[in-house]
Amino acid sequence: MNSAYVYLQLYRLFDRITPLPLDCGELCDAACCSGEDSGMFLFPGEAEVFKLIEPEGFRIEYSDLTYDDGGVLRKTPILFCEGSCDRYMRPLSCRIFPLTPVLCEDGKIDIITDPRAKSVCPLAKTLHLSEYDKNFTNAVKKAFVLLAKNKHVNAFLHEYTKYINEFNRFFS
Ligand code: SF4
Ligand code: SF4
Repeated sequence: MNSAYVYLQLYRLFDRITPLPLDCGELCDAACCSGEDSGMFLFPGEAEVFKLIEPEGFRIEYSDLTYDDGGVLRKTPILFCEGSCDRYMRPLSCRIFPLTPVLCEDGKIDIITDPRAKSVCPLAKTLHLSEYDKNFTNAVKKAFVLLAKNKHVNAFLHEYTKYINEFNRFFS
């Protein structure tokens, strides 16, 4: 199946669901969109969406986060924006922010507050996971339980989990 199609379907889970049932951008003047030189990781296959649609104001580069994908060393694409976008064009990283998936030792998906969000996002600084809109946390979990079944995404998530854990050590 075309990976762009899969991501476009997953995006729909977040069209009407946000971390809280209010516009949290009003709490912080959309701090997560206003950082300079900030990019969002694209999950394996997600770059296809942006190659297909080519929305204005986005560019893709490759980050230093590499992972072993069945013996092939891959670099993780990172999407840069200009600080505003059509919300229907947001990548998955923006839709799930300030949460993120990690792989547990038993291979299952866990959803946690993204430690990288704690310096920017008032929700990440103050809320326990149980205080987010349940529909939001459920949608994040559902998206990644599904994605993690794909061997390329799973290979990425192994490395990504180590990367996130490094941030967690710093913030805990
Ligand atoms: S930084 Fe946090 S509170 Fe602000 S818009 Fe982004 S997700 Fe909402
Ligand atoms: S892609 Fe959109 S939602 Fe994501 S950081 Fe850029 S402006 Fe914000």
